[in-house]
Amino acid sequence: MGGTDQVNQAYAEGIDAGRLLIQQCLDCQRCQFYPRITCSHCAGDRLDWTESRGGGVVVSFTVVRRGVSADFIAPYVVALVELDEGVRMMTHIVGPDPEQVQIGTPVVLTFQPVGAAGRLPVFSPSPLQQGEASP
Ligand SMILES: [Zn+2]
Repeated sequence: MGGTDQVNQAYAEGIDAGRLLIQQCLDCQRCQFYPRITCSHCAGDRLDWTESRGGGVVVSFTVVRRGVSADFIAPYVVALVELDEGVRMMTHIVGPDPEQVQIGTPVVLTFQPVGAAGRLPVFSPSPLQQGEASP
């Protein structure tokens, strides 16, 4: 599917279009993230893109209390999220109350503007779960 530059460009174009693209191997059918030129499971090079449905769950996280960038105002949460597609990605959890995040919290994909024209795939706690949690 081309070299690293092409893989990264395809991924970046997806982000620009508001789509989180992950790779699925045509040989072993498994997904991987971040994008690579070969399958991390079987080393095959027949990889296709699939769009994440945007659901996941927090498997690990840390609260950052001192911001390092104007794009992210502390406190914020850096988390390892496992997507429904079975891949894990390091990301940020955004939302009105980041310290509510726990391991196992269901999250949904959203995009956060960064810099002049960029954006990052981030996650916020699932509205469904928030609804269930309120009295
Ligand atoms: Zn594979």
